[in-house]
Amino acid sequence: MLELSEYLGKRTGETIKVLDELVRIQTHVPPGDNYEKAIDYAVSRFENLGFEVEKIFMPRELFETKNPRLTHLKGDRVNLSAIKNVGAKKTLLINTHLDVVPASENWSFPPFECTARDGRIFGRGVADSKGGPAALFTVLSAMEELEIKPKYNLNIALTTDEEMGPYSGLCHLADLGKLKADYFLSMDGDSDDITIASNGNVDWQIDVFGKSYHSGSSFMGVNAIEKTIPVMNELMALKEKVEKRRSKVPASLVISEKTGLKTLMPVLNITVMNAGVKQNIIPDRCTMKGDRRFIPEENYDDVRNEFETAMTNVRNHHPDLNISYSCDEIYAPMLTDMNHPWIKEVQTVASEVSGRIITLAGAQGSLDVAYAVKVTGLPACCFGIGRRIESNAHADDENIRIEDLVMYTKFLGKLIAG
Ligand SMILES: [Zn+2]
Repeated sequence: MLELSEYLGKRTGETIKVLDELVRIQTHVPPGDNYEKAIDYAVSRFENLGFEVEKIFMPRELFETKNPRLTHLKGDRVNLSAIKNVGAKKTLLINTHLDVVPASENWSFPPFECTARDGRIFGRGVADSKGGPAALFTVLSAMEELEIKPKYNLNIALTTDEEMGPYSGLCHLADLGKLKADYFLSMDGDSDDITIASNGNVDWQIDVFGKSYHSGSSFMGVNAIEKTIPVMNELMALKEKVEKRRSKVPASLVISEKTGLKTLMPVLNITVMNAGVKQNIIPDRCTMKGDRRFIPEENYDDVRNEFETAMTNVRNHHPDLNISYSCDEIYAPMLTDMNHPWIKEVQTVASEVSGRIITLAGAQGSLDVAYAVKVTGLPACCFGIGRRIESNAHADDENIRIEDLVMYTKFLGKLIAG
């Protein structure tokens, strides 16, 4: 085992080269019109490693039905399933996504290539989440060379549209029954801690209607923006109530250290507001949108009922209000038993290779992994390369520590080889 670990330590250059090749394939979404190149790159690698490989296209119609807000996105939605049956008793599912978020003009380095500086690699997607597959390719080829047989049959799913959702390639593979396994490792995580739970996510929208009129005689119209104020007040009251709740699931260590928050909490946010055309026109419509993240102890029906009760309250107090609203579940929450042997195994290996105790934690955000877990019922956790705060995932100058990349190849090696 030491042999593989040492061997992997010498192959960092190769991992970085593969990572650079992956980063250069521009899979940012929107628009996500370049997925096939990245999938083809992975297909040839897995074929060389003796995997049974399948390219899976999400049918356009399904993509548009499940993602009604993404119909403007052109390009094939391609995913990959790579399976190697080594005759083991158990099968390990490993997944992450190959799409990334776009890059702004403000990067210090070219975003779509890897730049090494001060012990770090900079590039869009190095942390979220192309570092994982780069490390995995190194591990699998090293095991081939050293003739080490995996401890598990392997089911690798590299998917797309995680950064857009809600119905990503992973969700599609789950529904197709392509995620057959006993254990599930998502590489779409951080190396700060192992994510065993996540909040669910509900998107809501409220439209407040008024009547347009010349502003000089505004009393002849109905100002939709002004009518929105009691609705916002009701939402703020609900926010206060919701955000007092706490989950039993521990929060990420970095979040606890920064904020004092010890466990996951639910949140309610107003994040979009659209209304009005011009100073002298009374607005006839105000649209408010937001989200509600709910802890694993809550469920979607309760969240929706609570939201509807708030809307009923505001209507009762303001009978002249004309509003319509919707409240839709995007992702369910996830909660894996912290004492499950699979979770213990991941935690033991991660702690050993990183030389510190890696804690189990919940994520405030929501994951497409939760959908896959809901469909498959697999014990799942997420562990990745980047650090939650310093890696700048989704921001300028996304980066990983090279030492974390090395740690991660050793982690995967030990986990897969046993
Ligand atoms: Zn990600």
